[in-house]
Amino acid sequence: MDAFALSYEDIVAAHKRISGAARRTPVLTSSTADGRAGGALLFKCENFQRMGAFKFRGAFNSLSRFTEEQKAAGVVTFSSGNHAQAVALSARILGIRAVIIMPRDAPAAKVAATEGYGAEIIFYDRYSEDRDALGAKVAAEQGLTLIPPYDHPDVMAGQGTTAKELIEDAGPVDLLLTPLGGGGLLSGCAVATRELCPDCEIYGVEPEAGDDGRRSFHSGRITTIETPQTIADGAQTRSLGRFTFPVIRGLVKDILTVSDAELAQAMRFFAERMKIVVEPTGCLAAAAVFSGRLDLAGRRAGIVVSGGNVDMEKYAALLR
Ligand SMILES: *Cc1c(COP(=O)(O)O)cnc(C)c1O
Repeated sequence: MDAFALSYEDIVAAHKRISGAARRTPVLTSSTADGRAGGALLFKCENFQRMGAFKFRGAFNSLSRFTEEQKAAGVVTFSSGNHAQAVALSARILGIRAVIIMPRDAPAAKVAATEGYGAEIIFYDRYSEDRDALGAKVAAEQGLTLIPPYDHPDVMAGQGTTAKELIEDAGPVDLLLTPLGGGGLLSGCAVATRELCPDCEIYGVEPEAGDDGRRSFHSGRITTIETPQTIADGAQTRSLGRFTFPVIRGLVKDILTVSDAELAQAMRFFAERMKIVVEPTGCLAAAAVFSGRLDLAGRRAGIVVSGGNVDMEKYAALLR
């Protein structure tokens, strides 16, 4: 365990730091869902988290650990999605300047939400400019600290508080499933779960179109792919991270994949039966159990529902 970038103690410390700022989100159940999956499903609903996704946990934990000097200078990140809003909101709460690097063609709603939290936005052209290089350049020029979306021990520790709360509130689970993009959520949750439920089987679920995680997991080497085309926009990552990958390889049982059609069905189930709005990426883990990928008979499965930020026009179109 010590070979990994994070330990259970890091998650406990992160949990103390974020409590008071992050919400302790509910664990919901549904007998219809249980009937469909053949086991007991415990949904950890991060669509009710502040700014609408678990990313607030990792961002707030990371920024809380800044030195006075780092706080005075500010934070920079690159993201068009939930991590941008998470950093922007955390920075506003902590009184830190935030600079967000976004693609020029990012959805207007996401740009507006990020600006609404008081962040400064720098646009780049995703087809001709390298965002990592731009991030490093802006950080160096302005003395800002770069907090990436997943490949950072403080981010991973914050995301791991999701599984810690789930198990503390709902009791031990036999399986735990989380959505998988770059692996911040899965790696953090895996460390927490291994400590609290040592025999639990842990799975990550990624979109079929972007199965780099599954391939990396089985080959033992980080595989990089082209940006996958999927409705799960929070999991359009090209590879796992150098910190997240070893944790996932060491603690996870397997990586599963689901199709966009299965994601849309799960989204509709959440709306119709459980009355909750879940974004496509947030449905990954649930879609895997609804479509019978695992034998759940007589078992309890923790399912991380990771977020609820979806444009309403797109949501309506997907439900149809
Ligand atoms: C970022 C994100 C994910 C993927 O998380 P990783 O830590 O990159 O694996 C899943 N769901 C939602 C809603 C997200 O915003």
